[in-house]
Amino acid sequence: MQGYIIDIKAVKDDDLIVSILTESHIYTTYRFYGARHSNINVGYKIDFELETNMKSSIPRLKDVIQLGFQWIFDNDKLYCWQRFIKLFYPHLKDVETIDDFYFKLLDKLSHKMIKQNPKRAICKSYIKLLDYEGRLHTDYHCLLCEQEIKKDISLVRSFMPVHASCTYSKSFKLKKIKELYEEKRIISFEDEEVDYLWKIILQGL
Ligand SMILES: [Zn+2]
Repeated sequence: MQGYIIDIKAVKDDDLIVSILTESHIYTTYRFYGARHSNINVGYKIDFELETNMKSSIPRLKDVIQLGFQWIFDNDKLYCWQRFIKLFYPHLKDVETIDDFYFKLLDKLSHKMIKQNPKRAICKSYIKLLDYEGRLHTDYHCLLCEQEIKKDISLVRSFMPVHASCTYSKSFKLKKIKELYEEKRIISFEDEEVDYLWKIILQGL
């Protein structure tokens, strides 16, 4: 089957605990250090097999083949991709079965990143994720004072809207945020604004 590696933890003797997001599951797997093993890393898309064993509760990860991205040697893209995909691990912690939305979202994103700027592509995917999870606040009420936001808007973690005057943080024109939230368009954002959004995403999904 195929999946995305969302977390790797080193354990004894160079063995690894590898968490993988597939179309339907989050798998926690065990990878023995061996002579014949392909290079694996967070963010990689892999084809793999799982071997279950009576002695261990964690299935063994085997027959791993890395499925490359066209941009895998573009350091900037790979870096952004890895930072983003790592956030799925705490976000989906303690979840075993998932909807194929997540796998498909990452598939589409990896494809879009061939041509698009990675941070812009990731921001748009993140909006889709929030929308899917019912966490995209298109009523534009301030998280802090609960009043409607009519003009300048700021965003806090998970892109929650707040009044710029309630947080004293960077403000955006409401029109621009509406474009992003409702039309999933980021074209009118300056690079420096996209950077700002990117940093909010890094606080956690
Ligand atoms: Zn407010």
